[in-house]
Amino acid sequence: MNLKIIKRIIREAKEMDTFAISINGGEPTLHPNFWEILKYIDKLGMEIVLTTNGSTISEKELKKFQNLKNFSCIRFSLDSLNKEFYEWFRGRKGFFEKVIKNIKTATKFNYQVNILTTITRLNLNEIEKIFSFAEKNKVNAVNFFPMVPVGRGKLNENLVLSKKEFRKFLIKIVEIKKNSSTTKLLTDHPLIALLDINLSRSLRICPAGIISISITPTGEVFPCPYFPISCGNILKESLKKIWNNNTLLNKLRDDNFLSEKCKVCKFKDSCRGGCRALAFIEFGDINYEDPLCWL
Ligand code: SF4
Repeated sequence: MNLKIIKRIIREAKEMDTFAISINGGEPTLHPNFWEILKYIDKLGMEIVLTTNGSTISEKELKKFQNLKNFSCIRFSLDSLNKEFYEWFRGRKGFFEKVIKNIKTATKFNYQVNILTTITRLNLNEIEKIFSFAEKNKVNAVNFFPMVPVGRGKLNENLVLSKKEFRKFLIKIVEIKKNSSTTKLLTDHPLIALLDINLSRSLRICPAGIISISITPTGEVFPCPYFPISCGNILKESLKKIWNNNTLLNKLRDDNFLSEKCKVCKFKDSCRGGCRALAFIEFGDINYEDPLCWL
């Protein structure tokens, strides 16, 4: 997608009172207009959240974010603290040390630094270790999220957590949330309600299609990066038109479209049926309950 189109999308987002733009990849720092894009978002006064694998950026470039008034947060993808596993999982060798170094450097520049970890069957047992690493290195927050069978996850469905493993994952999350101190744990899965209703009341609802959307490099608009249904293409329609008129987005905002099971569930107000993307991937229908719900 060229810079002219990207700037047009950013302008449209601003006109719709968007307060933050999250730039993800692939690896966004490799885009030929990366800095122009950041400066343009900054100029229009929206917060910038950057997700990077941390392997391509230099210390000098990390420092440059200080020049952006609205640079809000840098999020590093880190799936393991085991070098061999990390490089196997990422499919590239030789940059594990650089990523670790960049995480530590970013915290020294006093940015809001977050670690994002995709959880699979193979690193489920690393959750506590990664969280301890974050605390020790003054990382502001960690977000663990289970691999979803879409994109790369679809090619590795055998790594996706089973219902039993997912429950074990959430038990760990609740435990860490209760004991964490300076580093925040951002994992806010709706099904936490099943383990701790009080904890779930303080969490955010799933933002997909309600307060956020995802736009791909080809202009397709999705409710979230995991949702395999396009709501339209930004190269053919305005963002505003897609946001206001798309049937799927409007369905996601309406509680009446929950399954019969969810409508009468005592956790309905906290959970709202769980993840709509997973419901669609598993059952081909967004009205179903989250397939990971163990009720
Ligand atoms: S039945 Fe539905 S609302 Fe209740 S916990 Fe399961 S997914 Fe959530």
